[in-house]
Amino acid sequence: MSEDRAPVVIVGAGPVGVVAATLLAQRGIDSVVLERYAEPYPLPRAVHLDDEVYSILREIGLAAGFDSISRPMPGMRLVDAQHRTMAEFRRDATTPGPLGCPQASMFDQPDLERLLLANLANHPGVALRRGCTVSGVERHTDGAVVRYADESGEHRIIAGAVLGCDGTNGIVRQFIGASMLDLRFCERWLVIDVNTAAPLSVWGGVHQICDPQRPATFMHITGTRYRWEFRLGPDEDAADLTTPDALAGLLQKWFGPALPDDLEIIRHATYTFRAQVADRWRSGRIFLLGDAAHQTPPFIGQGLGAGLRDAHNLVWKLAGVLRGELAESILDTYELERRPHATRTVRAAVAVGWALTGGQDRAARVRKGTLAVMWRIPGISRGVLSTSSPALGSSVLVDGRLSRRGTGRVFPGVLASEPGPRGFTIVSDRAAAPGDLERLHRLGIRYSIRRGRRGAVLVRPDGAVAAAESGSGAVARLTAVVESVSAGTAMAGATA
Ligand SMILES: Cc1cc2nc3c(=O)[nH]c(=O)nc-3n(C[C@H](O)[C@H](O)[C@H](O)COP(=O)(O)OP(=O)(O)OC[C@H]3O[C@@H](n4cnc5c(N)ncnc54)[C@H](O)[C@@H]3O)c2cc1C
Repeated sequence: MSEDRAPVVIVGAGPVGVVAATLLAQRGIDSVVLERYAEPYPLPRAVHLDDEVYSILREIGLAAGFDSISRPMPGMRLVDAQHRTMAEFRRDATTPGPLGCPQASMFDQPDLERLLLANLANHPGVALRRGCTVSGVERHTDGAVVRYADESGEHRIIAGAVLGCDGTNGIVRQFIGASMLDLRFCERWLVIDVNTAAPLSVWGGVHQICDPQRPATFMHITGTRYRWEFRLGPDEDAADLTTPDALAGLLQKWFGPALPDDLEIIRHATYTFRAQVADRWRSGRIFLLGDAAHQTPPFIGQGLGAGLRDAHNLVWKLAGVLRGELAESILDTYELERRPHATRTVRAAVAVGWALTGGQDRAARVRKGTLAVMWRIPGISRGVLSTSSPALGSSVLVDGRLSRRGTGRVFPGVLASEPGPRGFTIVSDRAAAPGDLERLHRLGIRYSIRRGRRGAVLVRPDGAVAAAESGSGAVARLTAVVESVSAGTAMAGATA
């Protein structure tokens, strides 16, 4: 058995593992990414992401690349079984939102994964090893030990930290003693992705077909690509719906009796959509991220987004700890902040799914009052249209008492339009007092004056507002928050 050392080992080269490796590399931390398969997963999955997730892609240098494979998405329409519009929730897709990018975008996950992997290759400190199946992860005095096998045999890596980005059926979860908490949603859906140049005249938003007999979702993805999702009944056999005749029957309402000659079914697959969140996300320096930590039905298109938020939340903290700039205790904030956020997001998806489909045994309610139901259930309107994310859970770096002043949410003003890591920033309505400047400088905190706002906020390297203060001593109190997690030196990237 060979033995190796690495600052960080990432298990899984799905989008979450690749983004985590890229963000680490941008902060000067090398990693080894171990992936079981020789090639990226080729079939379509995620098709939607929001502006906060876009800004993570922008941070790793992929804004232009993502623009070239995506399109802004203008909202959602609810239609009945005859495809008559019952309600429409529109957003302006023609102008950038508050984060300087489209508020919602459509894309194809394999296209995004190609971009992510090509970008990863620009970081020589990342070793992506394919054909490597991880079989064990344990805590170690230096962090963790990872065991894996490839065609040459068995190997061990001692790592400063391990990121379990190994997806829904990942094994890292079991090694940290986590189990999935079931948020009570389990439905089988048939997902069909097609390619056709036939003129399919559709509005660019997502269509939810509120048909109690066959709830469905339909959307134009990009270019000649379209997706349908149909809910399967409890006793229905997916094989019966995927014969050529049955598929033609399902798609007839959009194409008429004859399907276009060039229609290519890229794939059809049955997925069991679940709502689950792991009950613990960390053991020492071993962490869970992405689908390994949470699974959501796709009704608000947040599964991949939640995983990229995990990576974005954790990486600057972990890099700071590994570089000796931040205190080990900051790692506690990852689960404290992300688990409640992910849970709220999954619950919102379940609520939207229930309102749109009526649940397996409540179909009649959809006919009678989808709209009324939608607006009564907390979180639904937010889930349907607004891309504003819930606040992060409280921690030493999120003053949850001040969530009405934006703590735990992204502060739009400081998200850079250029790629690269950032440090802490204080945004204030007035100049810093001379006495504050030395501490700001020592801790590498940027200071930005915004006339017209009241008081001051501390914005973290991931763009979330940590705390808000006003009055005399505001800057000193915000600086003390950074001091409480600092190991005494300025963070790398702080002045970027
Ligand atoms: C039909 C459908 C529609 C969806 N729509 C959306 C949407 O619109 N928006 C959205 O945000 N999300 C959506 N999602 C969810 C999204 O696809 C996932 O959340 C995302 O792919 C998760 O990424 P990940 O990196 O966490 O996991 P994965 O992409 O599953 O990657 C995990 C990787 O780990 C590897 N691995 C596992 N075990 C081991 C091991 N022991 N050793 C080595 N490697 C290992 C796997 O081979 C895999 O490559 C959808 C999903 C589906 C199925």
